[in-house]
Order: sequence, then structure tokens, then C-alpha cells
Amino acid sequence: MGLTARAQTVHNLLQGKPGITRIEGQSIRPIAGTNKPSEHSFGNAIDVYGTTDALLFWANHLNDNRSKYNISVICYDPGIGRKFDTCTTKHTDHLHVDFGPHCGGNIPASGSADELVSRCNTYQGGTVAPGGEAPGGILGGILQPITDLFNRAAIITVGAVIGVVAVVLIVKDTAAGKAAIGAVTSAATGGAGKVAKAAKGLKGTT
Ligand SMILES: [Zn+2]
Repeated sequence: MGLTARAQTVHNLLQGKPGITRIEGQSIRPIAGTNKPSEHSFGNAIDVYGTTDALLFWANHLNDNRSKYNISVICYDPGIGRKFDTCTTKHTDHLHVDFGPHCGGNIPASGSADELVSRCNTYQGGTVAPGGEAPGGILGGILQPITDLFNRAAIITVGAVIGVVAVVLIVKDTAAGKAAIGAVTSAATGGAGKVAKAAKGLKGTT
């Protein structure tokens, strides 16, 4: 059974703690009811079994320390008024924890169990991530907000410059003015796409 470094850290934290009876990890399969690979496929998720008190205690602890452990999703809903993330299936008997950025949908989900874990580790720890997604790792965690700021500033600046040119050209009522408006629109759309892409992977399912 392989686990990503992030999953292994939390596995080690919970292993053997009072009330924790069993921790399951890698399992190559889709998310129940979907054809999307589960983070379990990459060893990037753990399922923790134990008493309700113990699972609630640890779910709360992990929820309070999401950034410290790079946690993306916590599923646990024991039906006593405290649930964590909204997941595709209701997790009443075990606590599911997975880590960000999600590997499912971002890197190939085929290969041996060890290859899947290794690829996910590289994806989360590398500074150059495939598909232009947010890089993971400690460095990525620090750099990404700065990169986002620069991206946003660049989009706004480019949009503003094109906007000024467009206004001048529109005053002159030229076809170039209309084209410039199109460029402003696509710059704005590009920005929205970037935000949507960044948002993707923050929330997932099991
Ligand atoms: Zn799970």
C-alpha cells in the first residue's frame, strides 16, 4: 500500500491513537457513482475507522489545520449535527481525508500502484506542475498567491491598456475599435478562466 507524502504524514499522525481502529489507503478505483479516479487511486487519500468520538476529534483537528497538512477534502458525517465537506456519498462510518492539489483529473490515472503514487508526489511537490495547475509543495504554497497576484495585475493592466486604445478608436468609430473591445472581453474571459482553473481541485469528492 502506497501513500503520497501528504497522506503518509496524516496516516502516521492518526495511527495507533486511542479510538482509531483501522486506516485504509491506496485503492485504484473511481469515485463511487462516477468515472472520475478517486484520490485513493493515487494513495492521496486515507479512510479512517474508529469510534465516533475519536473520528470527530481528529476530523476537527484536521479541519483546523488544513493548510498545515495540505488537506483538500474532509468527509465525515456521523449524523449528530456536525459535518465537514459535502461529498458525493455520505460518510457515516469513516473519516475520509484527501490532499491537495488533487491528482485525479490532473495527471494520468493509469499505471502501477507505485507509479500512481510516485506521479502524484511529483505533481504535488514540483514547482512546475503539468497543465499549468497550481504547483504544490511548500514553495508552491508560498509562490502561488504571489503568482496569482501578478497574473491578476497583468490581466488588469493589459485590459486597461486595450480599453484605453479601444475608447480612442471607438471615438473614431473604426473597425479596429470593435476588435479592441473583443480583445478586452477575451482578456476578461481569460481571467475568469484562470480563476475557475485555480478553484478547480480545491474542492473535490471522495
Ligand atoms: Zn475515502
